[in-house]
Amino acid sequence: MKIATTSGELRAHNRVRLLRAVHDCGAARTRSQLTRDLGLARGTASVLVAGLADDELLHEEPASEHARGRPTQVPGPHPHGPLALAADVREDAWELAACELGGRVTVLEVRPHDGTPEGALAPLGEAVAAHRRRLGHRVVGVGMALPGPVRHGGLVAITHLGWRSVNVPALLGLHPHAAHRGGSEPPDLPIVGNDTAFAALAEARRGRLRGVRVGLHLHVDFDLGGVLVVDGHPLGGAGETGAEFGHMPLGGGDRPCDCGAIGCWGMDVGANALLRHAGLAYGGGRGREQAEQVLATNEEAVATVARALGRGVAALVNAHDPEVVTLSGLGAELWERAGEALLAAGEPYLMTIRRDRPPRIEGSALGWRGALLGAMESVFDAFLTTEGLELWRKNHPDQARDTPDQQNVMHSTFEGENPI
Ligand SMILES: [Zn+2]
Repeated sequence: MKIATTSGELRAHNRVRLLRAVHDCGAARTRSQLTRDLGLARGTASVLVAGLADDELLHEEPASEHARGRPTQVPGPHPHGPLALAADVREDAWELAACELGGRVTVLEVRPHDGTPEGALAPLGEAVAAHRRRLGHRVVGVGMALPGPVRHGGLVAITHLGWRSVNVPALLGLHPHAAHRGGSEPPDLPIVGNDTAFAALAEARRGRLRGVRVGLHLHVDFDLGGVLVVDGHPLGGAGETGAEFGHMPLGGGDRPCDCGAIGCWGMDVGANALLRHAGLAYGGGRGREQAEQVLATNEEAVATVARALGRGVAALVNAHDPEVVTLSGLGAELWERAGEALLAAGEPYLMTIRRDRPPRIEGSALGWRGALLGAMESVFDAFLTTEGLELWRKNHPDQARDTPDQQNVMHSTFEGENPI
């Protein structure tokens, strides 16, 4: 990192630090707490907050409950401030949301799709373009989670849907040549990433992997993905396709997987496996509702899947020695419904030294929202830089501004350690 030397550079650096702190705490800390956390002088903090408010990056509200003495101010997102558009593309539907600094999510649209690349991505691209037009310069980037490995430039493979090297930005109608028009506009290209890696990132920032040095995150939907998280970073691998623990032979089977390998763990854990054990049709991203029905009613199918999950978790615990194993998506529900079966199935596969001090296993603090929130984090990671804030200032004319349409959206918050 470049060291700030001039007072202007120092100020720019502190603006980023302050906004980052507001974002990471979920806009829940008072100005004086943040001032202390960041080791700033009180006067410096006042000047920084005033400047950020002028730039429509921050807005202060009085704390809901303030102790005796002066009322306390809580810096949070500005009503005309930056927004990350984030999408979670699943095998059967997508969700698009606008996210404020601090992590509050406003769902803009949810739509089912037919499982084809065009059917999923073309309408999503249109929706993104429409919301960008409506929200104007407030949109500082687009992040997108997809249920498959994502290679450089947004090439996605979802083999069981028949997606092979699908060019996501192209199908969204967002092309590289449109990026950086005139050199001062925010990039049009979305940040495309794997849903498991994004869910793990969100868990590390706002969930149960916060402050954890070595954690293991598993995201279960139709099948399963998993990734090791070290010091808050999901290990992406050399080509950012590392979140694929689901394609290791950890379930004990030898069934051929669409990925080209045999015996993949992901075939034994998730909605597809639940449907298969219940004797129902499965595959192709179909049958979510029936799988939820199986999860709620078919104890035997649930226990079978939980046992496969437990066996694989034990193998990964042997290898990586995580402090915590977190489960998102269907994984949290499997843990809730069949935690004992999961633990009992895993135990014989644990090394003795691991059995003495097994890691905690926890359902995600973020419910099904992890992938979407991780996509948001990736956008704000790019924005919360001195360059990102400078670009915001340049693109910030005093003109009519819009906010997400309050009539047609839902605000959602989660019960976790941090408000969102
Ligand atoms: Zn596989």
